Amino acid sequence: MSSQTKYIFVTGGVSSSLGKGIIAASLAKLLQAQGYNTTIQKLDPYINVDPGTLNPYEHGECYVTDDGAETDLDLGHYERFLNVPTSQANNITTGRIYQSVISKERKGEYLGKTVQVIPHITDEIKENIKVLESENKYDIIITEIGGTVGDIESLPYIEALRQLRWEMGEENLLVIHLTLIPYLSAAKELKTKPTQHSVKTLMESGVQADILVCRTEHELNQSLREKLARFCNVNSDCVIQSVDVNTIYDVPNYMFREGLDKVALKKLNLKYNEPDLKSWNVFLDRYKNPKGTVKIGLIGKYIELQDSYKSILESFIHAGAVNEVRVDVIPVHSEHINQKNVEEKLNSFDGILVAPGFGERGVEGKIEAIKYVRTNKIPFFGICYGMQMAVVEYSRNVLKLSDANSTEVNPKTNNPVIDLMEDQKNVTNKGGTMRLGSWDCTLKKESLCYSIYGSNKINERHRHRYEFNNKYLSDLENNNLIASGVNDETNLVEVIELKDHPWFIGVQYHPEYKSTVLSPHPLFVSFIKATKKNKK
Ligand code: GLN
Repeated sequence: MSSQTKYIFVTGGVSSSLGKGIIAASLAKLLQAQGYNTTIQKLDPYINVDPGTLNPYEHGECYVTDDGAETDLDLGHYERFLNVPTSQANNITTGRIYQSVISKERKGEYLGKTVQVIPHITDEIKENIKVLESENKYDIIITEIGGTVGDIESLPYIEALRQLRWEMGEENLLVIHLTLIPYLSAAKELKTKPTQHSVKTLMESGVQADILVCRTEHELNQSLREKLARFCNVNSDCVIQSVDVNTIYDVPNYMFREGLDKVALKKLNLKYNEPDLKSWNVFLDRYKNPKGTVKIGLIGKYIELQDSYKSILESFIHAGAVNEVRVDVIPVHSEHINQKNVEEKLNSFDGILVAPGFGERGVEGKIEAIKYVRTNKIPFFGICYGMQMAVVEYSRNVLKLSDANSTEVNPKTNNPVIDLMEDQKNVTNKGGTMRLGSWDCTLKKESLCYSIYGSNKINERHRHRYEFNNKYLSDLENNNLIASGVNDETNLVEVIELKDHPWFIGVQYHPEYKSTVLSPHPLFVSFIKATKKNKK
């Protein structure tokens, strides 16, 4: 542990979607693997206070931390790479910054001053950046600035960065600029000009990049590296190439070979140690050399976009590696499933996961899918809405309550087997008001879940407003559905399973938020094991 916390900022240029989050997470992994306590923070320039109110089509999945923050999906990558939990302090948005400044202004905290972007907004940003440092846990804090340099909305963040660098000195604060080197196939040439311009744009705001990480489809030769170095004021060993790799989990090794960690530590005047990536590489080896394949149907309504179910897809990768199988996840749109085609749509799968979700669209397809896998004894994993729909399906088809539903879908149903939680009934604001974050749950000793977790006390992350209606508990339990996990304080049913089925588990919480490379989630691991047994 060094005495002074060091900062590494990651900015992006030329294009969005270059993978700043993965570069930040990979560098953090390399630093962590050398013994440096490292965390990563994401600054998002949008005006939403958090992404909780965003449609998944906008920014992909909303990731939830233990302390109940609804955050950017990059925090999921940070946790999966580092195996260390993040919190609200790891994600800041412009909305949150302004909300805080405006509330201080209303309280009169600015003592009659005119409140301005500089210094008030930038001071607020700087304070928020330093919250993690005040926890006294970290040697290095990596801060990823969302968006692309030159965007109007990220200017206050770049200005805060300029001020921090001036205050802390170059030895304590390093700037990595992630950029794109496009290849013009007609000219058969890689082009450096867009990068020169984006580095210049950054300089116009008073920030000099120290290291360039260049996304490219072709290798950068030495003369190109030197050209970039010369035009952009960086050392040539600080031009790091990042060619596409097969999996994001290859990036730490790739950055290690390119020496990103080495140059970063040198610039920060910190000692370089050989990173220990043994267990990481054991995972990679298993992931890349599967001994078989299982085919999972992912039933949801946001399937067009990979990012909507990011954490679920990554959890399958972790669980596949443990089971030494490749997990092919095939998305199936719940709106396209009906009684007539369900068999044809689902019969090739070794297991089915019904995804979380909100609202009415596509629920009947989810219910059909659940009926099919329940009666055909195909492994079933229901997450949040998926669990709730499993309760609806069972109530309709086994308890014969034909109009059973969640009141989210049909507020007038006579059989509200899933109902709004009591403390949600007076909630009108949408932002940050669900049941969020980590809650305890006690598992029944004789349950499948208990045998999977190997413990009866668990703790998982939530994001929902509706719950299992305990009025139906005894009827359901008399008919072979067991509430195998319950929150002791509120009696909320958190896990259901079926007695006469090989693997049928629905969870009210989101296990996918806690699966990491080094600790794959036990439910995903067990589900994949069950699908291996069921293999077609
Ligand atoms: N819409 C359901 C609820 O609010 C489920 C939420 C979810 O799947 N995350 O309870």
